[in-house]
Amino acid sequence: MSVETTSGSRGLLQRVDLIFEDGDPRRTGVDLPAPKGVSKLGALERKAPLEIPGLKEPEALRHYVRLSQRNYAIDLGLFPLGSCTMKHNPRLNEKVVRLEGFADLHPLQPTETTQGALELMDQLAHWLLTLTGMAGVALSPKAGAHGEFCGMLAIRAALEARGELDKRRRVLAPVSAHGTNPSTAVAAGFIVDEVGADARGRVDLEAFKKHLGDDVAAVMLTNPNTCGLFEPDVKAIADLVHAAGGYFYCDGANYNAIVGRVRPGDLGVDAMHINLHKTFSTPHGGGGPGAGPVVFSEALARFAPAPKIVKAGDRFDLIEANEPGHVGRMCAFHGQMGMYVRALAYMMSHGADGLRQVAEDAVLNANYLLARLKPHFNAPFGDGPCMHEALFDDSNLRTHGVETIDIAKALLDEGYHPMTTYFPLVVHGAMLVEPTETESKAELDRFADVMIALAKRAKGNDAASFKAQPRLAPMRRLDETRAARQPKLRWKPEAAARAAE
Ligand SMILES: *Cc1c(COP(=O)(O)O)cnc(C)c1O
Repeated sequence: MSVETTSGSRGLLQRVDLIFEDGDPRRTGVDLPAPKGVSKLGALERKAPLEIPGLKEPEALRHYVRLSQRNYAIDLGLFPLGSCTMKHNPRLNEKVVRLEGFADLHPLQPTETTQGALELMDQLAHWLLTLTGMAGVALSPKAGAHGEFCGMLAIRAALEARGELDKRRRVLAPVSAHGTNPSTAVAAGFIVDEVGADARGRVDLEAFKKHLGDDVAAVMLTNPNTCGLFEPDVKAIADLVHAAGGYFYCDGANYNAIVGRVRPGDLGVDAMHINLHKTFSTPHGGGGPGAGPVVFSEALARFAPAPKIVKAGDRFDLIEANEPGHVGRMCAFHGQMGMYVRALAYMMSHGADGLRQVAEDAVLNANYLLARLKPHFNAPFGDGPCMHEALFDDSNLRTHGVETIDIAKALLDEGYHPMTTYFPLVVHGAMLVEPTETESKAELDRFADVMIALAKRAKGNDAASFKAQPRLAPMRRLDETRAARQPKLRWKPEAAARAAE
């Protein structure tokens, strides 16, 4: 790490080496007596050192705490990653999920000992179905992309039941779609057919009509879309794809913007995943596993994967077996129980009116940033209001030699995690900013002031200093292409690494 101190540490932040470099195999955190009566292990004797780092407990602890200090976190400041909804995770959720009855559950426990957990899952399902106006739900998918896969497998199963799977191979997806959409469609055995956008960043309805045909299995549409815009023709799109015999998969990653305001079921959606870690405040990325439950229309509900929760009298049960033709299981057990607890805690503490307020405030905050930043950054679809995220690009900065990546790196020095960059792909040099509902006006203003100052600096022909950023982050600019193409995934002791080269 290149820092200008003798120790490599800086400003109360200790240097962090690889744990292998910190560790010494001769050291250990436990001190056990030598086993009595075991002198020879014979064939079981170890032939080479294990090469795992030996550390005392405080050393191991310090290593990971130091690493954590190198990272930006949602609990440190505004995290404007568009399309990701990096929102505050209320501590109440964390308190509830640590209750022994939830935290110490084992998935193989007999159901008479897990009635509370099953009731919680049933309640969560009830909230999801009520909010979305849908007929069925699968809780078990473990992330948004896994939920997409579940939804597309249900569409596949429904087509198979109709005897039309061979004929219907094409899935329509707008050019602005998140990369997981086409990947999922292909993984589920379909072919992807891209539909263009109009000048307002929405699906081009006339082009969409031309793509329809009796070989279309489904449309995959994100709404609000990845440009942060509501698709005003969503109902027409649903009706058209249904009339053509296909299904409507909605990518619900942006549900945070409309929860409590619009029921996807009323828009004609047949399947939609809900990222609990985006809309319902469960931890995200490094903070914990996500969860991507999928809601289904009447047409698809019976193809939902096991397990299903049923209530007989006042007893809850899990139906483990699938009837023929259904999607199989999506995972070994019942999904991310900890996320179910957190999501339901979030829903119940907000109430239905509070969830609606979440959507309204998220949209208001994004529009506030759009209004403040629009005079300084080009907003390609900024004529009207946006939904929960505001889209900018670098077209008015590139003439000064400053690009989106430079703004992102400069933000690191200013104490902010960058916004989403270069996505959606339909906008060259995109910067997608999602503040979320939990940021105050003061915090939004602080961020806007920084962004405006950066834009002014960029226009002051300061490109060279931008290219030297970040200067204050733990790392300078990395060779990201090389990291992606030639990743070093395994640590080797230095001598062995040298020998290999
Ligand atoms: C986040 C996201 C996904 C994928 O969700 P994961 O939980 O990360 O798998 C899909 N589509 C859109 C639009 C997203 O923002």
